[in-house]
Amino acid sequence: MLSRHPLEISLSDPRRLVIRWEDGHASEFPVDILRDFCPCATCRKARMDRNEQAEQPKKRSLNVLGAPTRFEVDGLEHVGRYALGVNWKDGHRSIFTWEYFSAICPCDECRMVRGGPPQPFDPLITV
Ligand SMILES: [Zn+2]
Ligand SMILES: [Zn+2]
Repeated sequence: MLSRHPLEISLSDPRRLVIRWEDGHASEFPVDILRDFCPCATCRKARMDRNEQAEQPKKRSLNVLGAPTRFEVDGLEHVGRYALGVNWKDGHRSIFTWEYFSAICPCDECRMVRGGPPQPFDPLITV
């Protein structure tokens, strides 16, 4: 996985986090995807439980897990030089490394390279 750094991070639309990378690429993440992709242990566990319970294929039951504010960003902060912390309005905090952001970019180009839509994963680097 290539490691790259962002030039600019913008949340001018509160529903959409945009990262412009130093290599010229731009990633746009709908914030509800980011919350679903949160790599912390708690969310990984919740995803696993959800997958086990998901008998009906592709029927996502997201609102079971919390208030609607879980998809609203309260603030962003840099975490070291490797990651961005996303604070959610429901009090949860997600830490995404640049590598993770890069790997879950939902754009067409990255989708082609990856061979499919982004999937949340267990990041190798923990900050
Ligand atoms: Zn989480
Ligand atoms: Zn991309």
